[in-house]
Amino acid sequence: MKKRKKQTEVFCPYCGRRAVLRPITYVVGENRRIFDPDQKVYVCSAYPACNAYVAASKKNLKPLGSLADGELRNLRIQAHRALRGLWQNGYLSEKDAYHWLSGKLGLPEKDTHIAKFSHYWCEETIRCCEAYIEERRELELKGRMMTKSRKEGSHDTKGNRT
Ligand SMILES: [Zn+2]
Repeated sequence: MKKRKKQTEVFCPYCGRRAVLRPITYVVGENRRIFDPDQKVYVCSAYPACNAYVAASKKNLKPLGSLADGELRNLRIQAHRALRGLWQNGYLSEKDAYHWLSGKLGLPEKDTHIAKFSHYWCEETIRCCEAYIEERRELELKGRMMTKSRKEGSHDTKGNRT
């Protein structure tokens, strides 16, 4: 059996043209941010006139989501960042955060991948994550205030004795 990495047929959702597999430097050559140079992307064949691409899996070269234009790519980055906040702040594990998000959005877990998300789902993700973090912070603040008032209370009784 021949083991050959076959390119998946991918089309651009914006202009309908076929996407081509290219090294990431093809699209971010001018960018100073550090990317893995081995990373490959599916780029719309009309690039750069049509500025749409998506990363390919390193394992099987399948696209990791749908092709996105600059605005959507940016939104997906923001949505990732918002979700990452859940485990970076120690609220949930990464796995639980995805599980929570899928329930929150009402999407099956297999579809809860930000790389597949449209504008709408990215915005919903950001909104849900921000609300979650805010809620947790408020709870923490309340908890801290309670501990503080308890400490102050004990101080008062001590003071009253003298
Ligand atoms: Zn296109």
